[in-house]
Amino acid sequence: MYLNKSHRPVWAEINIDAIRANLLYVKSKLPPDMMIMGVVKADAYGHGAIPVSQELLKLGVEYLAVSNIDEAIELRNAGLSSPLLLFGPVESPEFGKLIQFNMFPTVFSFEYARELSESYRYRGVFPKVHIKIDSGMGRLGIPVDDALLEVEQISKIEGMIIDGIYSHYPSSDDDIEYSEQQTLKFTKLIADIKRLGIKVRHFHISNSSGIFNLPSSFSDPYTMVRPGLCLYGYSSQKNPEIQNSMSLKARVAAINKMKQGQTVSYLRTYKIKENGENIAVIPVGYADGIPTILSNKLKVRIKNKLYPNVGRICMDYMMVSLGQNPEKIQIGDEVTVFGEGAASVEYFGKLCHRIPYEVTCAVSKRVPRIYTRKEDERKAVE
Ligand SMILES: *Cc1c(COP(=O)(O)O)cnc(C)c1O
Repeated sequence: MYLNKSHRPVWAEINIDAIRANLLYVKSKLPPDMMIMGVVKADAYGHGAIPVSQELLKLGVEYLAVSNIDEAIELRNAGLSSPLLLFGPVESPEFGKLIQFNMFPTVFSFEYARELSESYRYRGVFPKVHIKIDSGMGRLGIPVDDALLEVEQISKIEGMIIDGIYSHYPSSDDDIEYSEQQTLKFTKLIADIKRLGIKVRHFHISNSSGIFNLPSSFSDPYTMVRPGLCLYGYSSQKNPEIQNSMSLKARVAAINKMKQGQTVSYLRTYKIKENGENIAVIPVGYADGIPTILSNKLKVRIKNKLYPNVGRICMDYMMVSLGQNPEKIQIGDEVTVFGEGAASVEYFGKLCHRIPYEVTCAVSKRVPRIYTRKEDERKAVE
């Protein structure tokens, strides 16, 4: 399952040990009975949903969450049988798949819950859902202020099992006061729901930043948290306790000794100033997830030294200046574009005005993911 060598000249290395350490750190922040729903949408933020989910479940994560049906089916087809929540909307022709692959859909209104439950009844099963409440995200969900009646209506649908009710923070990383107001409103709604005797297994609101900034999001009445970003080791505000888990790597494809006046790449934005400047060609470009806005800005690591990208980043290549003395660098040497010893995902993102989520999600499908862990290294040595 876990390989530690790529046979392609560009790959994303995923450090499973880092993900494990991040999860253990998150657990250490939470009360022992707090359940964890690992968020693995968008192919685990680009890290590979199947291997990441396997690891998370092995470490005691109870639930997984994805955005859409295809992501959920991918996990089921890989043999993962944990409870699985779908955040996004599902259209009625796909309702059958919710049952077939045993997932919890999110319901956003009574109308939607009713339509869904009819389809379940038709197939002879009880609907099992999570209800989404909008407590201040301004996106999907029943508005918190008048949610009680609608939740009650949903609860009265024949056979309806409410496995969870949840809400989401838009600003748990940078607006604590707003987030606390949200939590307060949602907590009050939960009290009302309980007072009406409506049976609900789980209440959850916290994402990664909530776990670091908002203790009220993981204490009574909350039973579960939904971390994503922090498991992969990134944060919107510097957090030294967690470790980046993805490094984008490649191998030098060619080294060209250039002459004064020659230019490098499209639009000829880089001109060679002195004879003998060595330009390395790295086979990774914007189709792999490196935006062209980083042209002439990004530095990559080769053998523990950083070298600047020169000239415009192409679809499949970028060029790097090795200066006059590249003798130690050869074709086939490993290059780190971001991660380990090069720009962090956060810094890479800052350079191109992207949040860390975008950086790892943008590493395209054609880039193979290679999983490393200490055990493998031991095996390789033995
Ligand atoms: C993506 C997402 C999360 C995880 O958020 P992070 O900031 O990555 O921890 C949690 N809940 C919902 C509804 C989400 O869409």
